[in-house]
Amino acid sequence: MEPKYIFVTGGVTSSLGKGIICSSLGLLLATRGLRVTIQKLDPYINVDPGTMNPYEHGEVYVTDDGAETDLDLGHYERFLGIPTSQDNNVTTGRIYYDVITKERQGAYLGQTVQVIPHITDEIKARVKAIGDSGKYDIVIVEIGGTVGDIEGLPYIEAMRQLRYDVGRLNTLSIHLTLVPYLKAAGELKTKPTQHSVKTIYELGMQPDMLVCRAEVPLDHGIRRKIAQFCNVEIEDVTASLDARSIYEVPLLMKEEGLDQRVIRKLQIQADEPDLTSWIRFVDAVSHPDHRIRIALVGKYVDHQDAYMSIVESFRHAGAVNSCEVEIVWISSDYLNEENLESQLNGVSGVLVAPGFGGRGIDGKLAAITHARKQKLPFLGICLGMQCAVIEYARNVCGMDGANSTEFDPETPHPIVDLMLEQKNINDKGGTMRLGAYDCSLEERSHTARAYGEKLISERHRHRYELNNKYRDELASHGLRVTGINPERDLVEIVEAEDHPWFVGVQFHPELKSTVEKPHPLFVNFVAAALKYANENRLVEHLRRERQEKPV
Ligand code: GLN
Repeated sequence: MEPKYIFVTGGVTSSLGKGIICSSLGLLLATRGLRVTIQKLDPYINVDPGTMNPYEHGEVYVTDDGAETDLDLGHYERFLGIPTSQDNNVTTGRIYYDVITKERQGAYLGQTVQVIPHITDEIKARVKAIGDSGKYDIVIVEIGGTVGDIEGLPYIEAMRQLRYDVGRLNTLSIHLTLVPYLKAAGELKTKPTQHSVKTIYELGMQPDMLVCRAEVPLDHGIRRKIAQFCNVEIEDVTASLDARSIYEVPLLMKEEGLDQRVIRKLQIQADEPDLTSWIRFVDAVSHPDHRIRIALVGKYVDHQDAYMSIVESFRHAGAVNSCEVEIVWISSDYLNEENLESQLNGVSGVLVAPGFGGRGIDGKLAAITHARKQKLPFLGICLGMQCAVIEYARNVCGMDGANSTEFDPETPHPIVDLMLEQKNINDKGGTMRLGAYDCSLEERSHTARAYGEKLISERHRHRYELNNKYRDELASHGLRVTGINPERDLVEIVEAEDHPWFVGVQFHPELKSTVEKPHPLFVNFVAAALKYANENRLVEHLRRERQEKPV
Protein backbone atom coordinates (compact mmCIF):
# COMPACT_ATOMS: atom_id res chain seq x y z
CA MET A 1 0.00 0.00 0.00
CA GLU A 2 1.21 3.51 -0.79
CA PRO A 3 1.92 5.53 2.33
CA LYS A 4 -0.87 7.83 3.46
CA TYR A 5 -0.18 11.20 5.06
CA ILE A 6 -2.35 12.74 7.75
CA PHE A 7 -1.63 16.41 8.42
CA VAL A 8 -2.68 17.74 11.78
CA THR A 9 -2.91 21.49 12.28
CA GLY A 10 -4.05 23.44 15.32
CA GLY A 11 -6.24 26.50 15.56
CA VAL A 12 -7.51 29.19 17.95
CA THR A 13 -4.91 28.72 20.71
CA SER A 14 -1.78 26.77 21.47
CA SER A 15 -1.68 24.03 24.14
CA LEU A 16 -4.74 22.18 22.83
CA GLY A 17 -2.82 18.91 23.06
CA LYS A 18 -2.09 18.29 19.39
CA GLY A 19 0.70 15.91 20.35
CA ILE A 20 -1.68 13.78 22.41
CA ILE A 21 -4.33 13.76 19.66
CA CYS A 22 -1.70 12.69 17.11
CA SER A 23 -0.38 10.01 19.48
CA SER A 24 -3.91 8.77 20.22
CA LEU A 25 -4.85 8.57 16.55
CA GLY A 26 -1.51 6.88 15.87
CA LEU A 27 -2.23 4.30 18.55
CA LEU A 28 -5.75 3.61 17.30
CA LEU A 29 -4.43 3.06 13.78
CA ALA A 30 -1.50 0.95 14.98
CA THR A 31 -3.79 -1.32 16.98
CA ARG A 32 -5.63 -1.93 13.72
CA GLY A 33 -2.46 -3.51 12.38
CA LEU A 34 -1.20 -0.48 10.44
CA ARG A 35 2.43 0.63 10.56
CA VAL A 36 2.32 4.18 11.87
CA THR A 37 4.81 6.91 12.65
CA ILE A 38 4.44 10.56 13.61
CA GLN A 39 6.57 13.48 12.47
CA LYS A 40 6.62 16.88 14.16
CA LEU A 41 7.29 20.05 12.17
CA ASP A 42 8.36 22.92 14.42
CA PRO A 43 8.28 26.44 12.97
CA TYR A 44 11.01 27.97 15.17
CA ILE A 45 14.45 29.05 13.96
CA ASN A 46 16.52 27.11 16.47
CA VAL A 47 18.02 24.14 14.62
CA ASP A 48 16.78 21.97 17.48
CA PRO A 49 15.43 22.62 20.98
CA GLY A 50 18.74 21.52 22.55
CA THR A 51 19.82 25.12 23.09
CA MET A 52 16.50 26.31 24.57
CA ASN A 53 16.02 26.48 28.30
CA PRO A 54 13.30 24.39 29.94
CA TYR A 55 11.15 27.46 30.67
CA GLU A 56 10.98 28.12 26.93
CA HIS A 57 10.53 24.64 25.71
CA GLY A 58 10.00 22.06 28.42
CA GLU A 59 11.90 18.80 28.21
CA VAL A 60 14.31 18.09 25.39
CA TYR A 61 13.60 14.57 24.22
CA VAL A 62 16.64 12.63 22.96
CA THR A 63 16.25 9.86 20.38
CA ASP A 64 18.40 6.74 20.00
CA ASP A 65 20.30 8.34 17.13
CA GLY A 66 21.18 11.33 19.30
CA ALA A 67 18.78 14.01 18.04
CA GLU A 68 17.62 16.61 20.58
CA THR A 69 13.93 16.94 19.80
CA ASP A 70 10.54 18.22 20.82
CA LEU A 71 8.86 16.64 23.84
CA ASP A 72 5.94 15.50 21.69
CA LEU A 73 8.23 12.79 20.32
CA GLY A 74 8.20 11.39 23.83
CA HIS A 75 4.43 11.03 23.63
CA TYR A 76 4.70 9.38 20.23
CA GLU A 77 7.11 6.79 21.61
CA ARG A 78 5.18 6.21 24.83
CA PHE A 79 1.91 5.67 22.96
CA LEU A 80 3.15 3.78 19.90
CA GLY A 81 5.94 1.86 21.62
CA ILE A 82 8.32 2.31 18.67
CA PRO A 83 11.42 4.49 18.63
CA THR A 84 11.54 7.76 16.72
CA SER A 85 14.66 9.23 15.14
CA GLN A 86 16.04 12.58 14.00
CA ASP A 87 13.81 12.31 10.92
CA ASN A 88 10.74 12.60 13.13
CA ASN A 89 11.41 16.21 14.10
CA VAL A 90 12.01 18.98 11.58
CA THR A 91 12.46 22.65 12.48
CA THR A 92 12.58 25.81 10.40
CA GLY A 93 16.14 26.26 11.65
CA ARG A 94 17.13 22.85 10.27
CA ILE A 95 15.41 23.50 6.94
CA TYR A 96 17.07 26.87 6.44
CA TYR A 97 20.43 25.54 7.62
CA ASP A 98 20.35 22.81 4.98
CA VAL A 99 19.05 25.06 2.21
CA ILE A 100 21.72 27.70 2.93
CA THR A 101 24.44 25.03 3.11
CA LYS A 102 23.35 23.74 -0.29
CA GLU A 103 23.28 27.29 -1.67
CA ARG A 104 26.86 27.81 -0.51
CA GLN A 105 27.85 24.59 -2.24
CA GLY A 106 26.34 25.92 -5.46
CA ALA A 107 23.59 23.32 -5.54
CA TYR A 108 20.96 25.73 -6.86
CA LEU A 109 22.88 26.42 -10.06
CA GLY A 110 22.55 30.18 -10.14
CA GLN A 111 18.88 30.38 -9.14
CA THR A 112 17.48 32.89 -6.67
CA VAL A 113 16.81 30.82 -3.54
CA GLN A 114 13.32 31.54 -2.17
CA VAL A 115 10.80 30.38 0.39
CA ILE A 116 8.73 29.01 -2.45
CA PRO A 117 9.88 26.67 -3.93
CA HIS A 118 13.17 25.99 -2.10
CA ILE A 119 12.09 26.05 1.53
CA THR A 120 8.76 24.34 0.80
CA ASP A 121 10.54 21.72 -1.33
CA GLU A 122 12.92 20.99 1.52
CA ILE A 123 9.96 20.59 3.92
CA LYS A 124 8.18 18.27 1.49
CA ALA A 125 11.34 16.23 0.98
CA ARG A 126 11.60 15.66 4.75
CA VAL A 127 8.01 14.47 4.99
CA LYS A 128 8.23 12.33 1.86
CA ALA A 129 11.49 10.75 3.03
CA ILE A 130 9.62 9.11 5.91
CA GLY A 131 6.77 7.97 3.67
CA ASP A 132 9.14 6.69 0.99
CA SER A 133 11.21 4.71 3.50
CA GLY A 134 8.75 1.87 2.99
CA LYS A 135 8.55 1.37 6.75
CA TYR A 136 5.11 2.91 7.30
CA ASP A 137 1.57 2.73 6.00
CA ILE A 138 0.61 5.97 7.70
CA VAL A 139 2.68 9.07 8.42
CA ILE A 140 0.96 11.49 10.77
CA VAL A 141 2.49 14.96 10.38
CA GLU A 142 1.92 17.30 13.30
CA ILE A 143 2.43 20.95 12.35
CA GLY A 144 3.54 22.93 15.38
CA GLY A 145 2.09 26.31 16.28
CA THR A 146 -1.32 27.73 15.46
CA VAL A 147 -2.79 28.28 12.01
CA GLY A 148 -2.28 31.91 10.99
CA ASP A 149 1.17 32.25 12.60
CA ILE A 150 3.56 33.91 10.17
CA GLU A 151 6.25 31.29 10.74
CA GLY A 152 3.84 28.46 10.00
CA LEU A 153 2.97 29.63 6.49
CA PRO A 154 5.65 27.68 4.56
CA TYR A 155 4.54 24.48 6.31
CA ILE A 156 0.88 24.90 5.37
CA GLU A 157 1.93 25.69 1.80
CA ALA A 158 4.18 22.61 1.71
CA MET A 159 1.27 20.46 2.94
CA ARG A 160 -1.03 21.99 0.35
CA GLN A 161 1.45 21.06 -2.39
CA LEU A 162 2.02 17.59 -0.99
CA ARG A 163 -1.68 16.89 -1.13
CA TYR A 164 -1.55 17.84 -4.76
CA ASP A 165 1.62 15.80 -5.42
CA VAL A 166 0.60 12.51 -3.82
CA GLY A 167 -3.12 12.70 -4.52
CA ARG A 168 -6.06 13.67 -2.34
CA LEU A 169 -6.88 10.05 -1.55
CA ASN A 170 -3.47 9.56 0.00
CA THR A 171 -3.75 12.50 2.35
CA LEU A 172 -6.04 13.77 5.03
CA SER A 173 -6.12 17.08 6.82
CA ILE A 174 -7.29 17.17 10.42
CA HIS A 175 -7.72 20.45 12.23
CA LEU A 176 -7.69 20.58 16.01
CA THR A 177 -9.66 23.51 17.30
CA LEU A 178 -11.18 24.94 20.46
CA VAL A 179 -14.90 25.26 21.10
CA PRO A 180 -15.07 27.40 24.23
CA TYR A 181 -17.99 27.33 26.67
CA LEU A 182 -19.08 30.80 27.73
CA LYS A 183 -20.50 30.51 31.19
CA ALA A 184 -22.31 33.84 31.09
CA ALA A 185 -24.09 32.88 27.88
CA GLY A 186 -24.43 29.24 28.92
CA GLU A 187 -23.34 28.25 25.42
CA LEU A 188 -20.58 26.62 23.41
CA LYS A 189 -19.21 29.06 20.87
CA THR A 190 -18.28 27.98 17.34
CA LYS A 191 -17.05 31.28 15.95
CA PRO A 192 -13.34 30.84 16.81
CA THR A 193 -13.44 27.50 14.98
CA GLN A 194 -15.13 29.05 11.98
CA HIS A 195 -12.46 31.75 11.82
CA SER A 196 -9.67 29.27 12.23
CA VAL A 197 -10.99 27.08 9.41
CA LYS A 198 -11.46 30.17 7.26
CA THR A 199 -7.79 31.02 7.80
CA ILE A 200 -6.74 27.57 6.55
CA TYR A 201 -8.99 27.98 3.54
CA GLU A 202 -7.27 31.27 2.74
CA LEU A 203 -4.00 29.36 2.71
CA GLY A 204 -5.34 26.90 0.17
CA MET A 205 -5.91 23.91 2.48
CA GLN A 206 -9.28 22.41 3.39
CA PRO A 207 -9.63 20.46 6.60
CA ASP A 208 -11.35 17.10 6.05
CA MET A 209 -12.02 16.53 9.71
CA LEU A 210 -12.24 18.61 12.86
CA VAL A 211 -11.31 17.61 16.37
CA CYS A 212 -12.97 20.05 18.75
CA ARG A 213 -11.44 20.50 22.18
CA ALA A 214 -14.23 21.37 24.58
CA GLU A 215 -14.96 21.33 28.29
CA VAL A 216 -18.55 20.14 27.86
CA PRO A 217 -20.02 17.64 25.37
CA LEU A 218 -20.94 18.86 21.88
CA ASP A 219 -24.60 18.16 21.10
CA HIS A 220 -25.96 17.37 17.66
CA GLY A 221 -26.97 20.98 16.98
CA ILE A 222 -23.49 22.34 17.67
CA ARG A 223 -21.88 19.63 15.56
CA ARG A 224 -24.26 20.40 12.72
CA LYS A 225 -23.49 24.09 12.93
CA ILE A 226 -19.73 23.48 12.90
CA ALA A 227 -20.08 21.03 9.99
CA GLN A 228 -22.17 23.46 7.99
CA PHE A 229 -19.96 26.49 8.48
CA CYS A 230 -16.67 24.64 8.17
CA ASN A 231 -17.66 22.63 5.13
CA VAL A 232 -17.22 19.10 6.54
CA GLU A 233 -19.64 16.23 7.08
CA ILE A 234 -21.23 16.07 10.49
CA GLU A 235 -19.53 12.71 11.20
CA ASP A 236 -16.22 14.46 10.66
CA VAL A 237 -16.79 16.78 13.60
CA THR A 238 -15.38 14.94 16.59
CA ALA A 239 -15.12 16.15 20.15
CA SER A 240 -12.16 15.85 22.45
CA LEU A 241 -13.26 16.51 26.01
CA ASP A 242 -10.91 16.98 28.94
CA ALA A 243 -9.68 13.58 30.11
CA ARG A 244 -8.50 12.48 33.55
CA SER A 245 -5.23 11.33 32.05
CA ILE A 246 -3.63 11.56 28.63
CA TYR A 247 -3.87 7.77 28.38
CA GLU A 248 -7.67 7.93 28.31
CA VAL A 249 -7.65 10.13 25.20
CA PRO A 250 -7.30 7.24 22.69
CA LEU A 251 -10.31 5.53 24.29
CA LEU A 252 -12.37 8.72 24.13
CA MET A 253 -11.35 9.35 20.53
CA LYS A 254 -12.30 5.80 19.63
CA GLU A 255 -15.75 6.46 21.09
CA GLU A 256 -15.95 9.49 18.83
CA GLY A 257 -15.10 7.29 15.85
CA LEU A 258 -12.00 9.26 14.88
CA ASP A 259 -10.00 6.30 13.58
CA GLN A 260 -13.07 4.80 11.93
CA ARG A 261 -13.63 7.96 9.92
CA VAL A 262 -9.93 8.26 9.08
CA ILE A 263 -9.67 4.80 7.55
CA ARG A 264 -12.92 5.29 5.71
CA LYS A 265 -11.81 8.56 4.19
CA LEU A 266 -8.39 7.19 3.28
CA GLN A 267 -10.04 4.03 1.93
CA ILE A 268 -7.85 1.71 3.97
CA GLN A 269 -8.74 -1.87 4.80
CA ALA A 270 -7.82 -2.44 8.42
CA ASP A 271 -8.71 -4.72 11.32
CA GLU A 272 -10.80 -3.60 14.27
CA PRO A 273 -8.54 -1.98 16.87
CA ASP A 274 -7.38 -4.26 19.68
CA LEU A 275 -7.07 -2.10 22.78
CA THR A 276 -7.09 -4.88 25.37
CA SER A 277 -3.66 -4.18 26.83
CA TRP A 278 -4.17 -0.40 26.68
CA ILE A 279 -7.43 -0.68 28.60
CA ARG A 280 -5.72 -2.90 31.14
CA PHE A 281 -3.09 -0.19 31.64
CA VAL A 282 -5.66 2.63 31.96
CA ASP A 283 -7.56 0.50 34.45
CA ALA A 284 -4.41 -0.13 36.50
CA VAL A 285 -3.69 3.62 36.54
CA SER A 286 -7.19 4.53 37.67
CA HIS A 287 -7.63 1.78 40.29
CA PRO A 288 -4.37 1.48 42.22
CA ASP A 289 -4.18 -0.64 45.38
CA HIS A 290 -1.51 1.58 46.91
CA ARG A 291 -0.49 5.18 47.02
CA ILE A 292 2.95 6.61 47.73
CA ARG A 293 4.67 9.96 47.48
CA ILE A 294 8.02 10.42 45.79
CA ALA A 295 9.95 13.69 45.89
CA LEU A 296 11.22 15.08 42.62
CA VAL A 297 14.00 17.52 43.41
CA GLY A 298 14.91 19.86 40.58
CA LYS A 299 15.29 23.43 39.40
CA TYR A 300 12.21 23.65 37.20
CA VAL A 301 9.48 22.29 39.46
CA ASP A 302 7.26 25.28 38.69
CA HIS A 303 7.46 24.27 35.05
CA GLN A 304 6.69 20.59 35.12
CA ASP A 305 6.88 20.08 31.34
CA ALA A 306 10.63 20.12 31.91
CA TYR A 307 10.28 16.68 33.52
CA MET A 308 7.58 15.26 31.24
CA SER A 309 9.19 11.87 30.62
CA ILE A 310 9.98 11.34 34.31
CA VAL A 311 6.37 12.00 35.27
CA GLU A 312 5.09 9.58 32.64
CA SER A 313 7.67 6.93 33.61
CA PHE A 314 6.31 7.04 37.15
CA ARG A 315 2.82 6.53 35.78
CA HIS A 316 3.92 3.46 33.79
CA ALA A 317 5.90 2.04 36.71
CA GLY A 318 3.04 2.81 39.09
CA ALA A 319 0.64 0.76 36.96
CA VAL A 320 2.98 -2.26 37.14
CA ASN A 321 3.12 -1.94 40.94
CA SER A 322 -0.60 -1.14 41.25
CA CYS A 323 0.50 2.01 42.99
CA GLU A 324 -0.32 5.65 42.41
CA VAL A 325 2.85 7.69 42.61
CA GLU A 326 2.15 11.21 43.77
CA ILE A 327 5.06 13.41 42.86
CA VAL A 328 6.01 15.95 45.51
CA TRP A 329 7.67 18.78 43.58
CA ILE A 330 10.60 20.19 45.51
CA SER A 331 12.56 23.16 44.27
CA SER A 332 16.26 22.56 44.79
CA ASP A 333 16.75 26.35 44.96
CA TYR A 334 14.97 26.58 48.31
CA LEU A 335 15.85 23.24 49.87
CA ASN A 336 18.30 23.41 52.74
CA GLU A 337 19.19 21.59 55.95
CA GLU A 338 16.67 23.59 58.00
CA ASN A 339 13.60 22.85 55.89
CA LEU A 340 14.67 19.43 54.62
CA GLU A 341 12.79 17.36 57.20
CA SER A 342 9.52 19.18 56.66
CA GLN A 343 9.80 19.29 52.87
CA LEU A 344 10.59 15.59 52.57
CA ASN A 345 8.15 14.55 55.26
CA GLY A 346 6.01 11.61 54.17
CA VAL A 347 7.87 10.76 50.99
CA SER A 348 8.96 7.19 50.34
CA GLY A 349 11.56 7.93 47.70
CA VAL A 350 13.67 10.74 46.31
CA LEU A 351 14.51 11.41 42.68
CA VAL A 352 17.11 14.03 41.88
CA ALA A 353 16.54 15.33 38.38
CA PRO A 354 18.82 16.00 35.43
CA GLY A 355 19.98 19.55 34.79
CA PHE A 356 22.71 21.98 33.89
CA GLY A 357 24.62 24.64 35.81
CA GLY A 358 25.35 25.33 39.45
CA ARG A 359 22.02 26.79 40.61
CA GLY A 360 20.23 24.55 43.11
CA ILE A 361 23.12 22.12 43.57
CA ASP A 362 23.28 22.62 47.36
CA GLY A 363 19.60 21.73 47.66
CA LYS A 364 20.14 18.59 45.62
CA LEU A 365 23.10 17.57 47.76
CA ALA A 366 21.05 18.11 50.93
CA ALA A 367 18.26 15.90 49.58
CA ILE A 368 20.77 13.17 48.73
CA THR A 369 22.37 13.27 52.19
CA HIS A 370 18.90 12.85 53.68
CA ALA A 371 17.98 9.94 51.36
CA ARG A 372 21.30 8.22 52.01
CA LYS A 373 21.12 8.54 55.81
CA GLN A 374 17.41 7.78 56.15
CA LYS A 375 17.72 4.79 53.78
CA LEU A 376 15.09 6.30 51.55
CA PRO A 377 15.09 4.78 48.05
CA PHE A 378 16.99 7.18 45.81
CA LEU A 379 17.34 7.56 42.05
CA GLY A 380 19.69 10.15 40.61
CA ILE A 381 19.44 10.81 36.89
CA CYS A 382 22.37 12.34 34.97
CA LEU A 383 23.10 15.50 36.99
CA GLY A 384 21.29 13.72 39.85
CA MET A 385 23.82 10.89 39.62
CA GLN A 386 26.73 13.33 39.46
CA CYS A 387 25.39 15.06 42.59
CA ALA A 388 25.14 11.70 44.36
CA VAL A 389 28.80 11.08 43.65
CA ILE A 390 29.78 14.56 44.87
CA GLU A 391 27.74 14.08 48.05
CA TYR A 392 29.28 10.68 48.70
CA ALA A 393 32.82 11.96 48.07
CA ARG A 394 32.38 14.88 50.45
CA ASN A 395 30.43 13.26 53.26
CA VAL A 396 31.48 9.59 53.20
CA CYS A 397 34.96 9.62 51.65
CA GLY A 398 35.90 12.87 53.43
CA MET A 399 37.01 14.72 50.28
CA ASP A 400 36.34 18.31 51.29
CA GLY A 401 35.29 20.54 48.42
CA ALA A 402 34.80 17.62 46.01
CA ASN A 403 32.80 18.92 43.08
CA SER A 404 32.08 18.81 39.39
CA THR A 405 34.25 21.11 37.30
CA GLU A 406 30.95 22.28 35.78
CA PHE A 407 30.31 24.21 39.02
CA ASP A 408 33.82 24.69 40.40
CA PRO A 409 36.66 24.52 37.90
CA GLU A 410 39.20 24.92 40.76
CA THR A 411 37.88 22.11 42.98
CA PRO A 412 40.61 20.14 44.80
CA HIS A 413 38.71 16.90 43.97
CA PRO A 414 37.24 17.03 40.44
CA ILE A 415 35.15 13.95 41.04
CA VAL A 416 33.00 14.82 38.03
CA ASP A 417 34.85 16.27 35.08
CA LEU A 418 34.39 17.25 31.45
CA MET A 419 34.69 14.26 29.11
CA LEU A 420 37.96 14.21 27.22
CA GLU A 421 36.39 14.70 23.79
CA GLN A 422 34.40 17.68 25.10
CA LYS A 423 37.47 19.68 26.07
CA ASN A 424 37.95 21.39 22.71
CA ILE A 425 34.28 21.89 21.88
CA ASN A 426 32.98 25.45 21.95
CA ASP A 427 29.71 25.23 20.03
CA LYS A 428 26.72 24.50 22.22
CA GLY A 429 24.21 22.99 19.76
CA GLY A 430 24.18 19.21 19.29
CA THR A 431 27.65 18.70 20.73
CA MET A 432 27.02 16.76 23.94
CA ARG A 433 27.36 12.99 24.28
CA LEU A 434 23.95 12.28 22.81
CA GLY A 435 21.84 9.24 22.09
CA ALA A 436 22.06 5.52 22.76
CA TYR A 437 25.18 3.88 24.17
CA ASP A 438 25.72 0.41 25.55
CA CYS A 439 26.19 -0.25 29.21
CA SER A 440 27.30 -3.54 30.72
CA LEU A 441 25.92 -4.32 34.14
CA GLU A 442 27.60 -5.92 37.10
CA GLU A 443 25.70 -9.05 38.01
CA ARG A 444 25.15 -8.50 41.70
CA SER A 445 23.43 -5.15 41.53
CA HIS A 446 19.97 -3.65 41.79
CA THR A 447 20.22 -2.57 38.20
CA ALA A 448 21.15 -6.00 36.80
CA ARG A 449 18.30 -7.52 38.80
CA ALA A 450 15.88 -4.86 37.57
CA TYR A 451 16.79 -5.25 33.91
CA GLY A 452 17.32 -9.02 34.03
CA GLU A 453 20.03 -8.47 31.41
CA LYS A 454 23.78 -7.97 31.29
CA LEU A 455 24.05 -5.54 28.41
CA ILE A 456 21.63 -2.65 28.03
CA SER A 457 21.39 0.42 25.82
CA GLU A 458 20.24 3.76 27.16
CA ARG A 459 20.07 7.35 25.94
CA HIS A 460 22.42 10.12 27.02
CA ARG A 461 22.71 13.90 27.06
CA HIS A 462 25.72 15.19 28.97
CA ARG A 463 29.22 16.66 28.77
CA TYR A 464 30.54 15.69 32.18
CA GLU A 465 31.25 12.25 33.62
CA LEU A 466 32.46 10.56 36.77
CA ASN A 467 36.23 10.98 36.91
CA ASN A 468 37.68 7.46 36.65
CA LYS A 469 40.60 8.41 38.92
CA TYR A 470 38.20 8.32 41.88
CA ARG A 471 36.47 5.04 41.13
CA ASP A 472 38.50 2.89 43.57
CA GLU A 473 38.30 5.45 46.36
CA LEU A 474 34.52 5.62 46.04
CA ALA A 475 34.21 1.82 45.84
CA SER A 476 36.35 1.34 48.96
CA HIS A 477 33.83 3.51 50.80
CA GLY A 478 30.83 1.58 49.46
CA LEU A 479 29.76 3.42 46.33
CA ARG A 480 30.14 0.76 43.66
CA VAL A 481 30.28 1.24 39.93
CA THR A 482 27.74 -1.28 38.66
CA GLY A 483 27.45 -0.24 35.02
CA ILE A 484 30.07 0.90 32.54
CA ASN A 485 30.17 1.74 28.88
CA PRO A 486 32.36 -1.09 27.52
CA GLU A 487 33.90 0.86 24.60
CA ARG A 488 35.07 3.86 26.57
CA ASP A 489 35.10 2.56 30.14
CA LEU A 490 32.82 5.44 31.21
CA VAL A 491 30.89 5.06 34.43
CA GLU A 492 27.18 4.74 33.70
CA ILE A 493 25.76 3.54 37.03
CA VAL A 494 26.70 3.79 40.70
CA GLU A 495 25.02 2.08 43.65
CA ALA A 496 25.55 2.49 47.38
CA GLU A 497 26.19 -0.76 49.21
CA ASP A 498 24.92 -0.02 52.66
CA HIS A 499 21.49 1.09 51.51
CA PRO A 500 18.32 -0.69 50.37
CA TRP A 501 18.08 1.17 47.03
CA PHE A 502 20.46 4.00 46.15
CA VAL A 503 21.11 4.20 42.41
CA GLY A 504 22.60 6.90 40.20
CA VAL A 505 22.54 6.64 36.42
CA GLN A 506 24.44 8.82 33.96
CA PHE A 507 21.86 8.07 31.26
CA HIS A 508 18.16 8.94 31.01
CA PRO A 509 15.97 5.89 31.67
CA GLU A 510 12.86 8.09 31.48
CA LEU A 511 13.34 8.46 27.72
CA LYS A 512 12.68 4.79 27.11
CA SER A 513 9.66 4.06 29.27
CA THR A 514 6.50 3.29 27.30
CA VAL A 515 3.03 2.05 28.17
CA GLU A 516 3.87 -1.28 26.60
CA LYS A 517 7.30 -1.50 28.25
CA PRO A 518 7.49 0.44 31.51
CA HIS A 519 11.12 1.09 32.31
CA PRO A 520 12.63 -1.60 34.61
CA LEU A 521 14.56 0.92 36.71
CA PHE A 522 11.46 2.99 37.42
CA VAL A 523 9.45 -0.17 38.11
CA ASN A 524 12.12 -1.31 40.57
CA PHE A 525 12.47 2.13 42.15
CA VAL A 526 8.71 2.39 42.73
CA ALA A 527 8.70 -1.15 44.16
CA ALA A 528 11.50 -0.17 46.57
CA ALA A 529 9.64 3.01 47.57
CA LEU A 530 6.45 1.02 48.11
CA LYS A 531 8.32 -1.44 50.31
CA TYR A 532 9.76 1.48 52.29
CA ALA A 533 6.26 2.98 52.67
CA ASN A 534 4.76 -0.33 53.85
CA GLU A 535 7.55 -1.03 56.33
CA ASN A 536 7.31 2.48 57.68
CA ARG A 537 3.57 2.21 58.01
CA LEU A 538 4.02 -1.04 59.91
CA VAL A 539 6.66 0.48 62.19
CA GLU A 540 4.41 3.48 62.76
CA HIS A 541 1.45 1.20 63.46
CA LEU A 542 3.43 -0.83 66.00
CA ARG A 543 4.72 2.34 67.64
CA ARG A 544 1.18 3.67 68.01
CA GLU A 545 -0.08 0.34 69.35
CA ARG A 546 2.68 0.34 71.93
CA GLN A 547 1.75 3.89 72.96
CA GLU A 548 -1.91 2.93 73.33
CA LYS A 549 -1.36 -0.27 75.34
CA PRO A 550 2.14 -0.20 76.80
CA VAL A 551 3.54 -3.62 77.85
N1 GLN B 1 25.17 19.06 33.38
C1 GLN B 1 25.56 17.69 33.39
C2 GLN B 1 26.45 17.33 32.22
O1 GLN B 1 26.46 17.98 31.22
C3 GLN B 1 24.34 16.76 33.46
C4 GLN B 1 23.47 16.83 32.24
C5 GLN B 1 22.11 16.23 32.44
O2 GLN B 1 21.62 16.09 33.56
N2 GLN B 1 21.44 15.91 31.37
O3 GLN B 1 27.13 16.35 32.27
